[in-house]
Amino acid sequence: MEQTFAIIKPDAVERNLIGKILEKIESKEFRVAAMKRVLLTIPVAECFYHVHKERPFFKDLTASMCTGPVILLVLQKEGAIKAWRELMGATNPAEADAGTIRKEFAVSLEKNSVHGSDAPETAAFEISYFFSQTEILS
Ligand code: GDP
Repeated sequence: MEQTFAIIKPDAVERNLIGKILEKIESKEFRVAAMKRVLLTIPVAECFYHVHKERPFFKDLTASMCTGPVILLVLQKEGAIKAWRELMGATNPAEADAGTIRKEFAVSLEKNSVHGSDAPETAAFEISYFFSQTEILS
């Protein structure tokens, strides 16, 4: 069973959307293998998003991820990485398909409500960055 890593971002937590987003996740038959609510710090966010460090939006992105608590998740299902990317929708909510989380809940490119790993290597890094093996019950 494939695992992927997800974040419910501060903009969505702030607007009390945790339950609605988890409902969508569970309705698509993902299992929540691990979950916690944390407040990220700038160094932790910068390391997490290190692949974007040369991008012009890096500072804004990492700062916005630290504006309030986030929900960290390990999601499990056959083809979880692709399925979670599909359920999230396009990065820019203006381009997201109907029925996706970003179409329904995101307010802007920066406040786009959710994060998801884009490949098996990034999923492995991101899961192990935030969760120890004993916290993941598959
Ligand atoms: P994702 O995998 O769909 O989340 O998208 P990326 O990995 O390309 O970008 C990471 C995050 O950076 C996105 O989810 C956005 O919140 C943010 N982001 C991407 N492009 C821009 C941009 O041009 N401006 C700003 N402010 N944020 C951006």
